[in-house]
Parts: sequence; structure tokens; C-alpha cells
Amino acid sequence: MKYSPVQNYINGKFVPASADKSLDVISPVDGALLSKVPMSSSKDLDAAVKSAKAAFPAWSRLPIKERVQVFFRYKYLLEKNLKELAELVSEENGKTYGEAVAEIEKCIELTEFATSLPQLVTGEVLEVSRGVECRTEHVPLGVVASIVPFNFPAMVPNWTIPNAIALGNCMIIKPSEKVPLSCGRLAELLKEAGLPDGVFNIVHGDSEMVTAICDHPQIEAVSFVGSTKVAKIVYQRATSNYKRALALGGAKNHLMVLPDAKEDMTAQNVAASMSGCAGQRCMAASAMVGVGNVDHIIAKICDEAKKIVPGKNLGAIISKESKERIERYISEAERDGAKILVDGRGAVVEGKENGTYVGPTVIDYVKPEMSVAREEIFGPVISIMRTNTVDEALAIENANPYGNAASVFTQNGGLARYIIDHASAGMIGVNVGVPVPREPFSFGGWNESKFGVGDITGKSSIEFWTKLKKSTTKWNPEAGVNWMS
Ligand code: NAD
Repeated sequence: MKYSPVQNYINGKFVPASADKSLDVISPVDGALLSKVPMSSSKDLDAAVKSAKAAFPAWSRLPIKERVQVFFRYKYLLEKNLKELAELVSEENGKTYGEAVAEIEKCIELTEFATSLPQLVTGEVLEVSRGVECRTEHVPLGVVASIVPFNFPAMVPNWTIPNAIALGNCMIIKPSEKVPLSCGRLAELLKEAGLPDGVFNIVHGDSEMVTAICDHPQIEAVSFVGSTKVAKIVYQRATSNYKRALALGGAKNHLMVLPDAKEDMTAQNVAASMSGCAGQRCMAASAMVGVGNVDHIIAKICDEAKKIVPGKNLGAIISKESKERIERYISEAERDGAKILVDGRGAVVEGKENGTYVGPTVIDYVKPEMSVAREEIFGPVISIMRTNTVDEALAIENANPYGNAASVFTQNGGLARYIIDHASAGMIGVNVGVPVPREPFSFGGWNESKFGVGDITGKSSIEFWTKLKKSTTKWNPEAGVNWMS
């Protein structure tokens, strides 16, 4: 085992969990046992909440300009430790080192945004009647929780950590049990940056811990990122306990390719979008709708896909079960009559035979009713459907229950605008395969890709992590009395 067993992080210290049960942490790169992660009990959660609650009064009372100083230092530490963090992310998640570097760079951008929060959370003030002022302030909620998935072990935690904490909250995070290591390193960097003990806590576990978080009476808000199935469970459970909740779910992103699209650029973007992070990202292109004759572009997409090689410029799939699931989808499509143009099944990387890899896969002549067209595959697979018109393509996109992202590739500005207006997704790309909005714009989908109001990052997150205090004041009795006095 490469690393010592993972521990919880409570009140500024790594501590063993009270429960005996643990799971193996396996590197998808080569199947090596990296560590063991404890399945903590509700007693461990109680200890984390207690430490967060104790830290809250002092932390929340600091002026925000003082709180963000921690994040200026944290940003510097992320930069300083970028290489080491990227290696850890790549090792536990299986993505390529280059992708892991990009993930840490995104953590830096997210932190940079948090340092600008003092400029964005100024309240409002107005003399509403003679001598009477109304004023609003953004007030932190208290102890909040963040539950995160496996596919971005550092970035998704940083969607919530800098903003929630800079806004004055104290946090409990539950990492994915598949990738629990990176979060521990983030805790060390936060401490080194000067974050007071208790403000940030980690409790490891699985679904039982998630339930305990949703039920804990002293946790005010729960953010969740993961699959739609679990997002629904978490949203329902947390809100039924009268907590604020924002739950981001899965995705099935459609790329619409029009015949006038720039061939090379489109092919490169489609291939990169479907295979980046081995297709294990909620912004990956998973379905493509070719409108009219786009055979020339599909041929180039296949050429691009063939340049993507497992173990070289294509990372691993998180687990053996996930690899089997992805390959099952490809086989189902083949059985149902689709044509496999590039086949990634059975990929093995020499010297890493115990790693879990699926090669890039391009499936053509997919019908909208096939499972590869409807369901999230979460692997480097693109399912191509064909239509004659843009409206038919939009009807397919609109009919899918998710709504994270959609993109169009065209040189026609009018049609691009029409697709922006009519696609049923929260994030739209025009000639962009992975239309992630960058800070200060917020990240969030629609439909079954997100439950709750507002977005998880950017300016929109301010509303989620704070509540408004409205005060009405009058200090000049001589101003006379009117109906509001
Ligand atoms: P997951 O839903 O299996 O797990 C997410 C978290 O929920 C983990 O911490 C896990 O321990 C916990 N969990 C798992 N099963 C649970 C249950 N039955 N009850 C309560 N908690 C449970 O997701 P994953 O496999 O880790 O991540 C992949 C999924 O996340 C994909 O569907 C992907 O699209 C989605 N995702 C979405 C976004 C987004 O922004 N919408 C971003 C990243 C990932």
C-alpha cells in the first residue's frame, strides 16, 4: 500500500474514524492499492460538526476582506504545489497528468474568484422614506456540507470550498470514497494558508455518511455533485429536513454538427470533448446529431479518435465495473444495429495490465431510442444520430431528460443563435466542445442535471452560501413621521 490509511480531518487534525469498516483505494492507472478509506460513523460526523460549529462565531465575525487573505495564500500554495497535486489526482483518478494539471489550474481560477468576493457582496442601502434607511447584508449560513464525486478529486471540492468559506461558513466535505486522497492534501494547504482549525473538516464514507449529513440537525445547507440518481435522493432528503440544497446530477450532452461546420476544428473538438478525462466528465460530448450530410466531418472525427491512445493521451476508467458498464453499452448498440466506426472495447495498456482502460469509441447510425443515445455512459464514447433538419436535432436534444450542456458546430450565426435559444440545457457552446463557463460566470445545468435554485460557482453561488439580512434604521427623530416611521 503506497499511502498510509486515509483519516478524517477534524478541527485541524487528521484523526482515525471511529468505525472499523474501510474500502480499498485502487489506482485505475495500474490497479495498485494506494490506501484504505474509512467508512466513518455518525459519531465522526458529530465531531466534525461540533468543531465547525465552534469555529463559526470567530470565523464568520471576521470581515470578509480578512477572510479572503487565507485564499490569496491558498491560491499561491496551489500554484506552488501544482505538480505534486496533479500527480496525486492523476494517480487516484486515472486521468492523464496533463488533464490533472488542467484540473489544478481550474482550482486556482476558482480560488482567484473567491478572493474577489469582497467586491461582489457589497449589500444595498437606500433611504426608503424620510430619514429611514433600508440595508441588506449577505450573512453566512453556519455549518454547511459539500458532497463530491470521483471525477474531479480536486476541482469539484474547490467549486465549493473557497466560496463557501470566504463567505463566512464552516464546512464539512465528504469526498468520493473512490478518490479520497486529494482532499486531504487540500486540507493541509488550507491550514498552511492560515485557515483556523475547525473551519474546514473532512469526513470520509459512502452513502450512509451522505444520509447522516442530510439528516444532521446542525448542518444548514448541503451541496451535492454526482449522478442524477443520487442527486435526487440528496435533494429530497436534505430539503425534507428543511435544509437548503443544491444537487448537481449527471448529463447527456448533445453536439449538433451542421454541414457548414469547419471540418478540422469540429473533428478535433468533438474528439477532445468525448474523450477528455476518458469521457468521465459531466461536460463531455456524449451524443452527436449530424444535420444533413456530415459524412466528411464524421470521417475526420474517426481519424482524430484513432490518434487518442489509452495510457498515452487517454486516461483510465475509474473502476473495473465502470469499464464493463461502458463496454456493455457499446455491445448493446452494436446488437441494436448501430455501426461501430472506432471500437475501444478490450483496451489493454502494456505494463499496466491491471489498469482499467476503454479506447475512444465512435458509434454511427444510432437511433434516439437506443440506450447509448438516452443514458449517461460516462466513458470515451460518442453516439452519432442523423437528422435532416435543425428542428429535428433540437427535438432529440430537448427530449433527453438531462440538460447540462449542448453545443453547435456551424459557421451560420443565425442558426447558432436559434440553437442557443431552443436547446434545453444550462450551458451552450458555439464551436466549443466543452462549454464550461469560466469565472465569474457560474456553472450549472438544467432539468435532471440540477436540482435546486441557482448555480454552484461564480456569482450565483453567493446566493446559495449566504442569507440576506434586511435592516431598517432611523437615527433622526427630527425628520418627522410618515406612514413608514
Ligand atoms: P455518485 O452519484 O455515484 O457519487 C457521488 C457522491 O455520492 C459520492 O460522494 C458517493 O459517496 C455518494 N453516493 C453514492 N451513492 C449514494 C447513495 N445511494 N446515496 C447517497 N450517497 C451516495 O457519482 P460518481 O460516480 O462519483 O460521479 C459521477 C457522476 O457525477 C456522473 O453522473 C457525472 O455526470 C456526475 N457529475 C456531475 C457534475 C455536474 O456538474 N452536474 C459534475 C461532476 C460529476
